[in-house]
Amino acid sequence: MKQHYIVLDVALCHDCNNCFVACKDEHADNSWLPYTQPMPWHGHRWMNIQRLERGEGDRVDVAFLPTPCQHCADAPCVKAHPDCISRRSDGIVLLDPQKAQGKKDIMDSCPYGVFYWNEESAVAQKCTMCAHLLDDGWAMPRCVHSCPTGALQFYTVEPEEMEKKVAKEKLSSYRAEIGTKPNVYYKNLYRFTKNFITGAVLKDDDCLEDAVVQLTGNAVDSAQKTDYFGEFKFDGLDDGAYTLSVNGKAVKTVEISSKSVNVGEIPV
Ligand code: SF4
Ligand code: SF4
Ligand code: SF4
Repeated sequence: MKQHYIVLDVALCHDCNNCFVACKDEHADNSWLPYTQPMPWHGHRWMNIQRLERGEGDRVDVAFLPTPCQHCADAPCVKAHPDCISRRSDGIVLLDPQKAQGKKDIMDSCPYGVFYWNEESAVAQKCTMCAHLLDDGWAMPRCVHSCPTGALQFYTVEPEEMEKKVAKEKLSSYRAEIGTKPNVYYKNLYRFTKNFITGAVLKDDDCLEDAVVQLTGNAVDSAQKTDYFGEFKFDGLDDGAYTLSVNGKAVKTVEISSKSVNVGEIPV
């Protein structure tokens, strides 16, 4: 049977929050029972945009990670509360607002932290993948419809077809190591989860364009040419030790330990 999937491209997300506002517009003050009760105007971020700055000094970048409920196939919330949370055959994980009434411990059952407590209704709430709209014939949820950059995409396909897409487009699961098998996938997730080594090559105190910089070590062997400003940037790196070479000569050993490194200017 076909399932619903959201794919989020970290490289295309600009933190405009249109998706967050669309979610709020759809759910605040609107009761979509039996799917969910109204979302409060304040405090809930069913589409939560996480933010990360990487780098040092004048060589930094920022990345944004839209994080709704991951609609996990192997969901810890379902395991912990099978009486009131379930996964539909189309992949959407829903909480029964009546059965979940007053059960605040549901908030602790999600490793992604996507539940929000509604004081007025005394119930935990989260992204429903806009199931009320999809069941009414909508082609996609409100957040996907509102994204101006195409960072959010929505697919309703057989799981086998999605597996092929995941392999072909190198999609990843956020925090795959916890093994929850989400129906939400990410493109360019390395922008949020991995690090880079950057710097610039100088010759006679001027930027050196087209110098060949090579990075080796930690199962990486990659080369690139410096740009107009003499700069280079190797991204998507794991923690470990690397060697930088310029025009065939080793110039630096660089250690990555949970953060990106700006090696500064390298004179040659
Ligand atoms: S609407 Fe699109 S670009 Fe804007 S914050 Fe959401 S995912 Fe990012
Ligand atoms: S992200 Fe959390 S709330 Fe959503 S299905 Fe997975 S475990 Fe449940
Ligand atoms: S799918 Fe619907 S409920 Fe979920 S974040 Fe998007 S707009 Fe909100």
